[in-house]
Amino acid sequence: MAGRLLSIGECMVELMQAEGDLLRKGYAGDSFNTAYYARLFLPADWSVDYFTAVGTDTVSDDMLAFIESTGVGTDHIRRVEGRSPGLYMIHLKDGERSFSYWRSVSAAKTLADDADHLRAAVDASDVIVFSGITLAILSPDAVETLLSELRRAKAAGRTVVFDPNIRPRLWDDKARMLETITAGARASTLVMPSFDDESTHFGDTDIEATLQRYGALGVDNIVVKDGPNGITLAFKDAPSVFVAAATVDRIVDTTSAGDSFNGAFLAHLVEHGNPAEAAGFAAGVAARVIGHHGALVAREKLLPSG
Ligand code: ADP
Repeated sequence: MAGRLLSIGECMVELMQAEGDLLRKGYAGDSFNTAYYARLFLPADWSVDYFTAVGTDTVSDDMLAFIESTGVGTDHIRRVEGRSPGLYMIHLKDGERSFSYWRSVSAAKTLADDADHLRAAVDASDVIVFSGITLAILSPDAVETLLSELRRAKAAGRTVVFDPNIRPRLWDDKARMLETITAGARASTLVMPSFDDESTHFGDTDIEATLQRYGALGVDNIVVKDGPNGITLAFKDAPSVFVAAATVDRIVDTTSAGDSFNGAFLAHLVEHGNPAEAAGFAAGVAARVIGHHGALVAREKLLPSG
């Protein structure tokens, strides 16, 4: 059955140390990474679109060209005069990665400023994906604009998918962070948290506590990721199930483990409708993603023999 997936958030320019003082340019961001992996694994009769705002400058042109080159649609991306995409740099020192960010005035912060535009994109979609990072970059008013559209989508029977992706450095106030993440979950039909983040920031003592907390908010479907310890799924009207993580021979770069899991899981779920099988498939993809460098790993490298 054909359908349309929309992922909402911020894609940034990535600068990574190459040789000496040279930098290599790429593009990444959790919601875009998820769209990328969904596109890799969804059938051709599904469209995948990205929703954000970019500027009118050359960097923005290049980013749109890159997004299109991955097969992800850019028709819903709004262009804002005088702004540019956010940027981050990955520093490598003795094999350890650290990050610097320039995103405080990024164009993506205005992604919800045109409510009619946002509504049209949401109304044109069957599955809408967003994250705690999407919410973290928005002003309180813009969060409310976005969440009210997503609540409408949920009420209209669309699938609204939320990865809390809790990143305290993006929030200036911890209470607002927890409140906003909770409001994001309430607007969703499927929440896909990582247990590590949930236990650290919400104080969940075990995975059952995470399931209970999101279930109590009216979230019908929950997928708790727990790194190498596996995945627990609680889907509406079904007992919860555990699915083991796949084994990784050699961890090369854990960037995008959760995002690739989300994209592959959604792609499999919408096509086959079986959450446990979708989790098994996504665990295999995520395990192969962390066996390679970078957030966006090419399809050939993700096949079982890759
Ligand atoms: P996030 O990257 O969002 O913190 P997780 O660390 O829970 O999310 O990882 C997401 C998924 O990636 C897990 O559900 C699991 O399938 C896979 N994964 C992550 N780390 C490992 C690992 N060390 N071994 C095998 N699979 C892993």
